[in-house]
Amino acid sequence: MHFFKFKNNELYAENVAVRKIVKKVGSPVYIYSLGTFLDHFLKIKRAFASIDCLICFSVKSNSNLTVLKTLTKAGSGLDIVSGGELFKALKAGADPKKIVFASVGKTEEEITAAVRAGILSFNVESEDELEAINRVARRLNRRQNISLRINPDVQPKTHHYITTGSKGNKFGIDMETAFRLYVEAFKYPYLKFNGVHLHIGSQITVSTPFVKAIRRASDFVNRLRRAGVPIEVLNIGGGLGIIYSNEQPQTAEQYAAAVLPVLKKLGVRIILEPGRFVSGNSGILATRVLYWKSSPTKTFAIVDAGMNDLIRPSIYGAYHEIVPVVAKKKAKIISGVDIVGPICESGDFLGKGRKLPRLIQGDLLAVMSAGAYGYVMASNYNSRPRVAEVVVRGSKFAVARKRETFADLVRGESILDV
Ligand SMILES: *Cc1c(COP(=O)(O)O)cnc(C)c1O
Repeated sequence: MHFFKFKNNELYAENVAVRKIVKKVGSPVYIYSLGTFLDHFLKIKRAFASIDCLICFSVKSNSNLTVLKTLTKAGSGLDIVSGGELFKALKAGADPKKIVFASVGKTEEEITAAVRAGILSFNVESEDELEAINRVARRLNRRQNISLRINPDVQPKTHHYITTGSKGNKFGIDMETAFRLYVEAFKYPYLKFNGVHLHIGSQITVSTPFVKAIRRASDFVNRLRRAGVPIEVLNIGGGLGIIYSNEQPQTAEQYAAAVLPVLKKLGVRIILEPGRFVSGNSGILATRVLYWKSSPTKTFAIVDAGMNDLIRPSIYGAYHEIVPVVAKKKAKIISGVDIVGPICESGDFLGKGRKLPRLIQGDLLAVMSAGAYGYVMASNYNSRPRVAEVVVRGSKFAVARKRETFADLVRGESILDV
């Protein structure tokens, strides 16, 4: 369920016409439905209500401050992956005691800032990192909770760029090494090894790989307990898939039903780190048609948004539904249309081979399901200012982040005479 729906032949974000937002704010523009963010967050929360559990929204999927504020006010924790995300999380007013920090390459500065802030836990990805956190915690005289991110070696069926829990990728620690590290926890007096973390990948639409990975983690926790290592928390990561086109992903309830039996038997506190599930269908990217171009072999809709605004189609071959914001009932339907941006790269496209009504200059298109890994991956490539982010709640909308200006493009730059 999301709150982008057609009413009277035009697309609405909650109760606001997308056309009206673009008229006021310009295009391209990201539009977020805060109601959808909350609805999806609450779906997971309810599905796991029968167990002690903390949901930490994955900030890397959408780090808009208003979004973070909205979710944390509703009780969400946050899953961060950098010092910058820590900064934004705290800026949005998040409770540090509900922040978990994952990343294979945390710097000493990032670790220091996070220990100082008093975050709930680090998800640790190497032995070297354990030493670094222990060193920082000693210096600050704190005892820091940590979980090791184990690599359960499962292979979920998803794009190979977004699998993270199989042998041979850079994430996590193999189970044998991890076991040794837990047993040797006494070597790190400033760390409390009270949790186990896993995150097996993204856009996973079936429960089987999750169940398999959680079973392995559960056996691992039991093995640790037998060895005298008390584990209180199991962080099962994110990765829940969503509908981009015709996927039929598990619902939050189905996911919970599949994994809860294993988790309940274990008697631990659960942490979840959903990103895309909460943010993916909560946002769209609205863009304007600049030109329509036909050759004997192809038709192109050239729009004002490009791969610098939304890179998922270019790098993952990701599919996003693309629909006219105002239905063109009478226009001829054209097949095989590529929707491309203005950037000087052949990889600059938002969709390929689509069926669209014949569009004209100025028509608006909505790129759907762009709330996750959209704006956060935007760049200034081709010296294009980053677009605005608008939030909608009911009948109201507001610019949550201004469109960048040309002045923003040269901020921090000096013209050196060398
Ligand atoms: C990216 C990431 C997530 C969120 O993944 P989604 O597929 O968006 O749910 C959760 N945990 C970790 C450690 C991540 O790196």
